[in-house]
Amino acid sequence: MDDRMFRTAMGKFATGVTVIVSEVDGEVHGMTANAFMSVSLDPKLVLISVGSNAKMNKIIQESQKFSVNILSGSQKEMSMIFAGQIKEERKVNFDTFEGLPVIENSLVSLACNVYDTHEAGDHTLYIGEVINLNVQDGEPLAFYEGKYKQVM
Ligand code: FAD
Ligand code: NAD
Repeated sequence: MDDRMFRTAMGKFATGVTVIVSEVDGEVHGMTANAFMSVSLDPKLVLISVGSNAKMNKIIQESQKFSVNILSGSQKEMSMIFAGQIKEERKVNFDTFEGLPVIENSLVSLACNVYDTHEAGDHTLYIGEVINLNVQDGEPLAFYEGKYKQVM
């Protein structure tokens, strides 16, 4: 099985889109991620999967915390910015929640402390304990077959 076949198959699993944000020494770094899931209610745990070559690894390993921002249908540009799909640098304003930078107007922002870390092939899995969360009304941005979609 080649990589393209695996990605094509995984792309059939429709997901939302998140931006993971963390900060070290005043430098705020964001990364688009759809490898996100809810893990446990007691305690409240979520999981993200970050590619080994991603700059985000170093940031989370140092800060030991991150926010997960579930994007709304109107935030496709945010996903493109933090996936490097828009080449020119953009100035992004962040809100602060529980001492962590979060993406303004996200559907949900979760403030997480790293609870556990697991190396898995060419990715690192971070389990985050959710310290607090913010929820807003709206429809999510979706990702399916390698393309952004509107749910409604
Ligand atoms: P970089 O590539 O350096 O940064 C990412 C981009 O964000 C750059 O363009 C940078 O300029 C910009 N940026 C960062 N911080 C700021 C800031 N403060 N202000 C303004 N711009 C900023 N990869 C995974 O590992 N796991 C996933 O689950 C995953 N899911 C994805 C889902 C989708 C829908 C897409 C499109 C991509 C996904 N990726 C995923 C790929 C990942 O988003 C990219 O490879 C990303 O470029 C890796 O980020 P990085 O940490 O290496 O940092
Ligand atoms: P794509 O066709 O590459 O992705 C379809 C699906 O394949 C994704 O939703 C994901 O589930 C899986 N996938 C893709 N790349 C992966 C990787 N390196 N490791 C594990 N799973 C992966 O869609 P696309 O629009 O070409 O993606 C844009 C870029 O974002 C690509 O460079 C892709 O590699 C990257 N991406 C990475 C991940 C990830 O690391 N988990 C997830 C999604 C997209």
